[in-house]
Amino acid sequence: MSVGSLPVRFDDIRAAAARIGERVLKTPVVESAALSEIAGVPVHLKLEHHQTTGSFKLRGAKNAVLSLTVEERKRGVVAASTGNHGRALAFAAKAEGSLATICMSSLVPENKVLEIRRLGANVRIVGRSQDEAQEEVDRLVAEKGLVMVPPFDHPAVVAGQGTLGLELFDQLPDVETVLVPLSGGGLAAGVAAAIKGRRTSVRVVGLTMERGAAMKASLDAGMPVQVEELPSLADSLGGGIGLDNRVTFAMCRDLLDDVVLLSEAEIAAGMRHAYAVEREVIEGAAAVGIAALLAGKIMGHGPVVAILSGRNVDMDQHRRIINGDTICGKDAA
Ligand SMILES: *Cc1c(COP(=O)(O)O)cnc(C)c1O
Repeated sequence: MSVGSLPVRFDDIRAAAARIGERVLKTPVVESAALSEIAGVPVHLKLEHHQTTGSFKLRGAKNAVLSLTVEERKRGVVAASTGNHGRALAFAAKAEGSLATICMSSLVPENKVLEIRRLGANVRIVGRSQDEAQEEVDRLVAEKGLVMVPPFDHPAVVAGQGTLGLELFDQLPDVETVLVPLSGGGLAAGVAAAIKGRRTSVRVVGLTMERGAAMKASLDAGMPVQVEELPSLADSLGGGIGLDNRVTFAMCRDLLDDVVLLSEAEIAAGMRHAYAVEREVIEGAAAVGIAALLAGKIMGHGPVVAILSGRNVDMDQHRRIINGDTICGKDAA
């Protein structure tokens, strides 16, 4: 499949960039002397964890909210997400004069509920599982006419995440390899479409954890499949890609050059390096690029860019990882 026939095209990403404009931060790209020495090629870090709300998810949420009609915006948006998508959608909706309703189960910790409320969302606590929270989303869509904005499998969300790729290419036009954290594939699909729209020869590599990597399993199977979800330091990379995936599976299949898997110990080492050497606090999901470079798993040409995708980590957990303690269950190392 050519880049032009995919569900999200280069022009859609350019339109998203124009739509979002200055409503998101342009995040810096910095060279890492330490990682360049280790990799033997210039390595740069895209500091997207400094984005407003603490992750790139604001790009997709902003583009989705700004793509709504005035009437849809009045009805409000809805999602079932306790993580970075929920934060981003809460913030984006409020900033654009809409209201986000975020549905979550009663098992979600109180601090997460408070954070999303503080960002301006209406929080609905329903049931005892993510599935029950999603049922409430479906009900609000059917009965109240709220507009669902999913975390990755939506053209406007993917195009919004793609603006990160456009921005990155403008900052570093001689880039040869881009390392992208991969879960549902919204970020990887958008960034790959943007980067390859500029220069097809740039390698785009998806990185994810060994534990429960749904997109990797689906790419291997040739169709979306379900995997068992396991706790990981990279908690923002958990979850499935949806058996009825419409957008991101085909894009990741056609645009990613490779997918690399990281162990929990490697992800922890990535977080530790980010903190101790680069002086950056990042969450596990954001550490996979650095982790792969430290583990010698990236053979690509330079310049290499690792996207640091978010910083919403529990600070007690972060402290334990920095101190080198065992992290996520007994078999984590
Ligand atoms: C959501 C998220 C990812 C993965 O993005 P997908 O579009 O689901 O692949 C990576 N890092 C962070 C910090 C995230 O919040």
